[in-house]
Amino acid sequence: MRNELERVRNIGILAHVDAGKTTTTERILFATGATYKQGEVHDGTTVTDFDAQERDRGITIFAAAVSVDWAGHRINLIDTPGHVDFADEVERSLRVLDGAVAVFDGVAGVEPQSESVWRQADRYGVPRIAFVNKLDRAGADFDAAVASIRDRLHVTPLVVQEPIGAEAAFAGMTDLTEVSARSAALVEQVAELHSGALEEYVETGTLSRETLRRALRELTLAGTAVVVLGGSAYKDKGIEELLDAVVAYLPSPLDMPPVADGRPADPDAPLAALVFKVHSAATGRLTYLRVYSGTLRKGTAVYEPNADETERVSRILHVQADRHTDVDRAVAGDIVAVVGLKHARTGETLCDPGHRLVLEPPSTATPVVSVA
Ligand code: GDP
Repeated sequence: MRNELERVRNIGILAHVDAGKTTTTERILFATGATYKQGEVHDGTTVTDFDAQERDRGITIFAAAVSVDWAGHRINLIDTPGHVDFADEVERSLRVLDGAVAVFDGVAGVEPQSESVWRQADRYGVPRIAFVNKLDRAGADFDAAVASIRDRLHVTPLVVQEPIGAEAAFAGMTDLTEVSARSAALVEQVAELHSGALEEYVETGTLSRETLRRALRELTLAGTAVVVLGGSAYKDKGIEELLDAVVAYLPSPLDMPPVADGRPADPDAPLAALVFKVHSAATGRLTYLRVYSGTLRKGTAVYEPNADETERVSRILHVQADRHTDVDRAVAGDIVAVVGLKHARTGETLCDPGHRLVLEPPSTATPVVSVA
């Protein structure tokens, strides 16, 4: 079971409006085989934007979640809204995700709103990697975008790829973690930041690929530095490498602190789940939630402390891009949608009637709780 949890990534894509979050999400769904129709953003057929109001406005307002499979891992993409007016909802979703991909525009670099979303993620201690998008555009400059990450976000960029060609001739990225002469700067930088890597560097004059990647992961989880990748979602360049980086560097639910005393990310612990989105759909009222500990079982009753209601979970749905699959249970670390709950609002806790607790709204990096 530990093994299974290690293979889960609950992540969000954070971005300035227009940086390419929707297109990146689309290409991820396509690359993972979750969808065979590539929606176009402008005609409103984008898979994650399924609310009419969102389609009309062309921006993603409501958080939803989609599961994809990649390299033996399940990646749950939690759709965080990027628009500044919806900062509250961004914050709520940050609590539900363990890691994030921050998307930047390769022409504009870090923009003011990317800074504010970045600071929110800092506040909740969400480990991140960066994706510099639109490298195919006229005026795109990978190095300048990396410099803006350093200067405006005050974080050390660890550039793990090199662009091949630029602007219209952009052809993809070279992986610098396949250690070669080109990786010298990255290797040196990582050795300076990571004591385990430094030891190997002093002894051998370089780093093995394994050490380099392990150090990059640990530096990402500690928030010491940020791994930077690049590509063009539009041209479908760099998307598979981005998925590999999500798996390699971002945390699993096991890397996160327990959500409350006695509620570790363990299917056998008492249930603790948080509702992060309620959506009215053709299937009825869908309650999106993250299970932090324990197991949620179809047909069983859950207690909702804020509503002071006990309700039965009639269906549990695993939500993929193009379909919902009925499942019998959801375990710690899972993100699912539930049918049958009429009272649970966004921010509500679900727990066992016999083991009550309230998950507090997020206010610090470490989830705070009070036991009822
Ligand atoms: P969002 O607001 O962050 O979700 O951004 P979108 O994904 O909707 O993209 C905004 C615009 O930029 C759309 O017109 C996309 O077609 C375009 N776009 C997205 N990614 C790229 C890219 O890699 N290259 C180019 N040239 N355009 C892109």
